[in-house]
Amino acid sequence: MRVAVAGFVHETNTFSPHPATMDRFAEADGWPPLVTGSELPPALAGSNLPATGFLEAARLDGAEVLPLLWCSAVPSGPVTREAYDAILAWMLERLQAAGPVDAVYLDLHGAMVAEHERDGDGAVLAAVRAEVEASTAVVASLDFHANVSGAMVDASDALVAFRTYPHVDMAATGRRTYAALKAVLPGIRDGRRPARALGRSPFLVPLVCQSTDAEPGRRLYAGLGDREGPSVYATSLAMGFPPADTWETGPSVVSYAETEPAARQAVAAVLAQLEAAEAEFAVPLHAPESAIAEALRIADASGGLVVVADTRDNPGAGGAGDTTGLLTAAVKRDAEGVAIGVLADPDTAARATQAGVGAEITVSVGGRSDGRPYVGPARVTALGDGRFTATGPMFGGSHMDLGPMAALRCGRVAVAVASRRMQAADRSMFRHVGIEPDAQRVVIVKSSVHFRADFAHAKAVVVADAPGLNPVNHDTLDYQHLRSSVRRMPVVHASGAPG
Ligand SMILES: [Zn+2]
Repeated sequence: MRVAVAGFVHETNTFSPHPATMDRFAEADGWPPLVTGSELPPALAGSNLPATGFLEAARLDGAEVLPLLWCSAVPSGPVTREAYDAILAWMLERLQAAGPVDAVYLDLHGAMVAEHERDGDGAVLAAVRAEVEASTAVVASLDFHANVSGAMVDASDALVAFRTYPHVDMAATGRRTYAALKAVLPGIRDGRRPARALGRSPFLVPLVCQSTDAEPGRRLYAGLGDREGPSVYATSLAMGFPPADTWETGPSVVSYAETEPAARQAVAAVLAQLEAAEAEFAVPLHAPESAIAEALRIADASGGLVVVADTRDNPGAGGAGDTTGLLTAAVKRDAEGVAIGVLADPDTAARATQAGVGAEITVSVGGRSDGRPYVGPARVTALGDGRFTATGPMFGGSHMDLGPMAALRCGRVAVAVASRRMQAADRSMFRHVGIEPDAQRVVIVKSSVHFRADFAHAKAVVVADAPGLNPVNHDTLDYQHLRSSVRRMPVVHASGAPG
């Protein structure tokens, strides 16, 4: 079997004013930089990425792999027209040059929006489909947060989404996509593409409520694999990416099967379970000062670490990673054993580097995105070049490249600052600049759920409602394209939180 392999990965928060430019795809961050041709397999080796898992399965199976290109950019506003068109054109040129193939595998997110194309992934899949023979299979792996479109389903012969959040199964999903490809390929060679069905949830689910380490996510995903077999090739439940203004935004179920009734039945069964769980998707939210107070209270009572999730400013959801609502509240609280990270602020990282370890400086840190920096005295306690290997269950093995980093002490709060935006989902991001997360009472992370993988030992998680581009309350987002019938989830507010 000859199989072409490509990746073009972006999760787009259409409410973010910061576009994904070619530079963002070209550079390394938590994942490799843009790679082409034979650079691809070694660059991805050892990572927990879908394409890595797919390549591994293909190699074990003796398939001939034709690597085209792979790139990703940190979640942000829409992909620029320039970047999108160039990357897609390179992918198609290389696909053409590869000659006839039995299959094309794409590593996609599923919630990509370009400046000129609201269904970014659907257009990629359709363009690839148009480029190959009818007897060629087109399959893709998708993120758990894909907003699946009809165009994506029409153009593909299997879409296979992650089943975990934190996404510890990314490479495993690539392997499952390879298995789905093997299942659909014989039919496609005989001129029969698999039957498929797609269904949508009538409500959105906030990112912080989507974890599969807690109910109802745990049980919704536990039985998905059992719905696959000789006649049902792949069934996926994607929880969707809410801060994206598209018609498709929200949870969806997609199934590929031998017959249409089988695909439809699988979709209906999973959707029914999801809809029955609607009331369980709710979370108590705390305003910044209330979040710090509550976290310290639990830390003292339990004698262990408590994590505050700064979910709204999660760079993994397109947040700027630089808002200071929680930093300001933490400094004001003036408690020992509190750390926050990772604030994206290249200017402050450079300034601290210049001043050197031990220097006392006055900083205006973060707040570039909303004009509300934290201003005050700080001591530089450590510096780093931002290059280290992540160690946690999700990012483990990834070569991080976050640009110059610094640890500051603002009041009694330890602050990890990086030059590039990155979700604080791995303890190595703190340790790189000498902040030991496990020695803290409270760690505030710019993350929604992914941190849970590497902070599984935390005694509790407190969800904060601080400034940022990924609100838990979707009613605050000005959707123009979303289906009007979609329910935006009820949100439980704790005391002290804004209404
Ligand atoms: Zn995701």
